[in-house]
Amino acid sequence: MTDENRRKTEKNGDRPPFDPALSDLPERIVGWYRENRRRLPWREEVSPYRTLISEIMLQQTRVETVKPYFERFLSAFPDVASLADANDELLYKLWEGLGYYSRARNLKRCAHEVVDRFGGVIPSEQKDLLSLPGIGPYTAGAIAAFAYDRPVAAVDGNVLRVTARVTAEPGDILAPAVRNKLTALTSSLVPTDAPGDFGQGMIELGALICLPNRPPKCELCPIRDLCRANAEGIADRLPVRGKKPERKLEYRTVLLVRSGTSTLLHKRPARGLLAGLWEFPNFSGGLDEKEALDAVRALGLDPVRVRPLGEAKHLFTHIEWRMTGYLISVADPDRPLPDGYEMPETDDLLSRFAIPSAFAAYTRSLTSPLP
Ligand code: SF4
Repeated sequence: MTDENRRKTEKNGDRPPFDPALSDLPERIVGWYRENRRRLPWREEVSPYRTLISEIMLQQTRVETVKPYFERFLSAFPDVASLADANDELLYKLWEGLGYYSRARNLKRCAHEVVDRFGGVIPSEQKDLLSLPGIGPYTAGAIAAFAYDRPVAAVDGNVLRVTARVTAEPGDILAPAVRNKLTALTSSLVPTDAPGDFGQGMIELGALICLPNRPPKCELCPIRDLCRANAEGIADRLPVRGKKPERKLEYRTVLLVRSGTSTLLHKRPARGLLAGLWEFPNFSGGLDEKEALDAVRALGLDPVRVRPLGEAKHLFTHIEWRMTGYLISVADPDRPLPDGYEMPETDDLLSRFAIPSAFAAYTRSLTSPLP
């Protein structure tokens, strides 16, 4: 980092003092990033909208998984206005398999507000970005730095890990005080002449070199001589991370209720887990065959055959579902289905309805031979 840039950095807002021991770090990160960065669709052509979509998709999701979703999403919704007007069924269908559907819902709400409050232009100021649905400090920093070249930090899990190792941070990185300290340090290092490349470089270093849950590749690291964890030989023991709370276990019974090649679907309530998505009817607890048949009769349908579909499980952030499934054949319904239910043909179901991946094991059984 040049003296000139350092002066600019120190003058910028209320930043904490620059740590002289790390004075070379920004320039090294930027240089390394420019040489070694992965070519990713959202990096080849940068805009605030593309950064918004890619950063929201990348939350909790691997880069390789996101790539095709990103391209398809941008084809269907090329700009803020088209996303604000998105048809919900298409939005969820394009998100199907990415999980955490609240991200898709929030993206649409965010686009709405950008149209209503900012004339369709994604704002560049962090305080404005933070006022939008689904945008937290990291995403606000990423849009401001990557797309608008604002000298702000974008601190995700990768950056926390890198800075915790560089400073040999002994505290728990999940603790707010430690996160705040490492975020302040990162903010103080952002160079005004390359904030985007610095921010992306820190993330890229964490993704490719300073690895999570494995020993870091310190021998390849551009800042190894600045790194205290490396000097002290403790890099593979950092960062310190407290125990996460255990997931709550829930047992559920999932019913594939079929008449010919049509399958019963239910729309979930507009709020709560998997809000507004379609699902196979499912019930709390592990029902036996008789209870499963009674549940189908309670929907006004006439079951003629039942067979077990086996067990499956799905992990949400705070909940684990342990599921057991039944395939239940019913006679052709002779009256309308209850509100919130539909019975599409298999082709229609697979092409038009977004079924959450929690039900993937049972969705697969629609197209594969039963055991
Ligand atoms: S030297 Fe090792 S521990 Fe330190 S930042 Fe680089 S990869 Fe991470």
